[in-house]
Amino acid sequence: MTWGNGQMKPSLLLNATFEPIGVISWRKAIILSFLGKAEVISAYHQVVHSISSSINLPAVLRLTRYVKYRRQEVKFTRRNIYIRDKYRCQYCGKVFEPKDLTYDHVIPRSRGGKTTWTNVVTCCHTCNRKKGGRTPKEAGMQLLNQPKEPHWHPMIHFSMDTQQIPAPWLDYLIWHPAYNPPETSFGIDSED
Ligand SMILES: [Zn+2]
Repeated sequence: MTWGNGQMKPSLLLNATFEPIGVISWRKAIILSFLGKAEVISAYHQVVHSISSSINLPAVLRLTRYVKYRRQEVKFTRRNIYIRDKYRCQYCGKVFEPKDLTYDHVIPRSRGGKTTWTNVVTCCHTCNRKKGGRTPKEAGMQLLNQPKEPHWHPMIHFSMDTQQIPAPWLDYLIWHPAYNPPETSFGIDSED
């Protein structure tokens, strides 16, 4: 086999119910598709050639059979807060690089605000300074979203920069309203 030029993009794997359950390599995507374990829902323009045929690299695949998965709690970390909030300052709404972000206690700690999923949001330095030790109402600032505890696996959402997420995936990643993607875990590797 000969492979196309350029970097091979990974594929997004969906459960039979269309819920995202993992990111897999393009090789694995082709194997799953070839074995009939998954159907290709969306493909990249990039083509892989074999002697007898050429196929477009799968961008999104859906498993033909439903795979049970365990719900996993998302660890409460700065990084996961950014991922939950899609690297978007929850006050001004702009997207930043991680180095330009911090987190904000919605109800300030000095007022008894807890360091929890429901009281901590992604915030840019400018908004953080502007808000200071005040509540959003006192500071005249409004939250984009009410912060919630996420129930997805953060590895899927994403170790990539949001800008690097392949376009064909977007329909399947933002399929739930209010930043509430489905609960996910990896159970696919053991299936081969
Ligand atoms: Zn901001």
